[in-house]
Amino acid sequence: QAKDLGKNNYQFYEPNMKDRISQRLALEHSIRRGLEQGEFVIYYQPLLDLSTGKIVGIEALIRWNHPRKGLISPAEFIPVAEETGLIIPLGEWILRSACKRNKVWQDNGYPPMRMAVNLSARQFQQQKLVKKVARILEETGLDPRWLELEITESIAMKDVEFTSKMLFELQKMGITIAIDDFGTGYSSLSYLKRLPIDILKIDRSFIRDIISDPDDASIVKTIIILAHNLKMKVTAEGVETQEQLNYLRQQGCDEIQGYLFSKPLPGEEIEALLSSSSLYHKSFPSSNQNL
Ligand code: C2E
Ligand code: MG
Ligand code: MG
Ligand code: MG
Repeated sequence: QAKDLGKNNYQFYEPNMKDRISQRLALEHSIRRGLEQGEFVIYYQPLLDLSTGKIVGIEALIRWNHPRKGLISPAEFIPVAEETGLIIPLGEWILRSACKRNKVWQDNGYPPMRMAVNLSARQFQQQKLVKKVARILEETGLDPRWLELEITESIAMKDVEFTSKMLFELQKMGITIAIDDFGTGYSSLSYLKRLPIDILKIDRSFIRDIISDPDDASIVKTIIILAHNLKMKVTAEGVETQEQLNYLRQQGCDEIQGYLFSKPLPGEEIEALLSSSSLYHKSFPSSNQNL
């Protein structure tokens, strides 16, 4: 009996594992092909200044426009791209495309904004990253002050000495540095103080219930005070309601990002948004007076 069971397990498990491995290989292969075929597209999501209601930045968010499966979210392919190293060419393509796009918008007379680009762990760990970023800025002609690089709190805290060296070099070039998904990792506060960080982006999970959950409200309030004391700005991610916006403004949060104002959009739709009066969101009644 036991033997039968063992045998069954063996038969059951083995093809399953093979399936997983071949699925992954297939995914790796199709990411590579997708990159060659130009199947990746960047969506853009505005970042708004809470005191003026103006768009001050745009976050570049990658999607995969798969010929059969349609639009695929980054959660489904970034981890495999990261494990296989494909994130290096993919990430470089994203950075170059986002910088180029921002420069084109500026050349076309849109008000200048920061372009925020996410860096994965593997990308950030490259010794050549600073050189690559410098080359892309030079190639695209984008002034470094209009580039923001986002790394997650967990990436930043992995090897603080390396992170510190890297961030200082990037900041010296004039690039804005943001810590993404802040609050979900384990930052030592003494490290946080020593890193050249311009912006803390409070993770969406803390914003979701700020109105109903006093604990989340206190956490957010505390992060804002902490950031300001360390001379950093704060962006709140995932703002979906007017109540959340009001609370964040009351607490002195600097910038917001979320569906309340706009979902991530294709470049052409962002252009439409930038040229329309909705550049000023209705929840900023006073902003039109500053026009
Ligand atoms: P992230 O960098 O924290 O990006 C914010 C995510 O929150 C985006 O998901 C965005 O669509 C979503 N979001 C923004 N506002 C709201 C809101 O009001 N409600 C809700 N429910 N969601 C909101 P997305 O685009 O699916 O990206 C997920 C993650 O994938 C990103 O999180 C980032 O970690 C990663 N990612 C996206 N693009 C890139 C990229 O170009 N390179 C790398 N390395 N990672 C990327
Ligand atoms: Mg991000
Ligand atoms: Mg984030
Ligand atoms: Mg997040």
